[in-house]
Amino acid sequence: MAGDLRHRKIIRAALGNYEIARDKRKASFQSWESARQLAAETKWDALNHLDKYLVEFTAKIEARGTKVHWASTAAQAREIILQIVREKNAKSIIKSKAMTAEEIHLNDALEHAGLNVVENDLGEFIVQLRHEAPYHIVFPSMHLTRDEIRDLFQREFGSGTGILPVSSSEKELGKKPETHGQDARATTFSNDPEELTMIARRVLRKKFLTADIGITGANFAIAETGMISITENEGNARLTAALPKTMVTLLGIEKVLPLLEDLALFLPLLATSGTGQALTCYNTMYGGPRQPGEFDGPEEYHVVLLDNRRTELLADPEQRDALHCIRCGACLNVCPIFRNVGGHTYGTTYSGPIGSVITPHLRGLQDWKHLSFSSSLCGACSETCPVKIDLAHHLLQNRRNASAEKPSFIWRTGFRIFSFIFNRPGLYKLIGPLGRIGQKLHPLVKGTRLDPAYSWTKTREAPKIAPQTFKEYWRERK
Ligand code: SF4
Repeated sequence: MAGDLRHRKIIRAALGNYEIARDKRKASFQSWESARQLAAETKWDALNHLDKYLVEFTAKIEARGTKVHWASTAAQAREIILQIVREKNAKSIIKSKAMTAEEIHLNDALEHAGLNVVENDLGEFIVQLRHEAPYHIVFPSMHLTRDEIRDLFQREFGSGTGILPVSSSEKELGKKPETHGQDARATTFSNDPEELTMIARRVLRKKFLTADIGITGANFAIAETGMISITENEGNARLTAALPKTMVTLLGIEKVLPLLEDLALFLPLLATSGTGQALTCYNTMYGGPRQPGEFDGPEEYHVVLLDNRRTELLADPEQRDALHCIRCGACLNVCPIFRNVGGHTYGTTYSGPIGSVITPHLRGLQDWKHLSFSSSLCGACSETCPVKIDLAHHLLQNRRNASAEKPSFIWRTGFRIFSFIFNRPGLYKLIGPLGRIGQKLHPLVKGTRLDPAYSWTKTREAPKIAPQTFKEYWRERK
């Protein structure tokens, strides 16, 4: 992926605009550093008294009729949500951006159960159509150009689907005519972002109106008031909450903040670091199902609190502050590795520096330690993090912990072979010529189970062996 210059150009262009906006917004804080310090201390308090704040949050939100569920594992969380779906006899589900749902592979579980699940965040909707995972925590489809999205929409909603291109007079809300059902054989979409957004909007609005259950993530949970805070730019989470009869919110237990007034700090901090905005467009609090006298909102509201090894991380005095993360994505944006290889290369739900730090905790150190080793340790992530997580230091701690653990059999055997060969100059000399012969034969088995380098080549290109060794080159030069 690092060799894909086109991909790198797209990411750099997207992040160039972000950096300008972010710096402008940072400058509008009286003291950005003091805001970061206060945020880090608030999260420290929240995490160190998580037992107290979670109980307080649960009691308050349950008092308004919400059902709170506790899930220790991803499997439990999926089962709780499937059980709600079965009880409601639901057929269609609308889902607004929730990285926690990605973490537990909720879509796969729901689709496996025969349900129609539609992502309604525009970026998530686009990657769902492409059968891809989100590319970035905040910008799920930032790796795509307008033309690629236009082609995708053309394929999915073009000729014969009844979704016509949007005329300029239709761009204003409330002025567009209903076009479904019209003959659209000649439909051709442009790559104008506004038009593409309107096309997605037409498709999604229908889904909102017919969905049985709405599933959302959450940015924060407020202990003091027993409320969920969701911050977004498209208003899709609001519709997810307002239209279906049943709403489910899935969130990690670390999302709790002690006081309502903490949002006065965290919402601008998140918007500035995440998208370079002073504040995102829609900031909504959810405190329970529709109350008597209210006109909208779900009839039933479920909150699923997910652990999934977060308490194990909490028990680690060195690295527990990784749970302070507010998922702003800023560390990804400044990371020289992320900017060159992109989000999909990580193969994890959370990519970039924070993903490299927490994935070994969430999914096993030995299987995911390579992420911590694939870092330049430049420290840009630690410097940018709005809640002052020292990510570069945590990457080093992961490396140390991985090296201290007993290595796997394959790892041990690999290094024994390596040491055996490197201690025998005669054998070492043969490596170059043998490797070059092997490389010529490699295409015959590449990508199959017969490939000795299968676990490497299934996702990456094997590095090319140089046509001559350094010794040969030196000899040639005399
Ligand atoms: S670690 Fe910090 S910078 Fe990275 S996503 Fe989390 S809060 Fe943002």
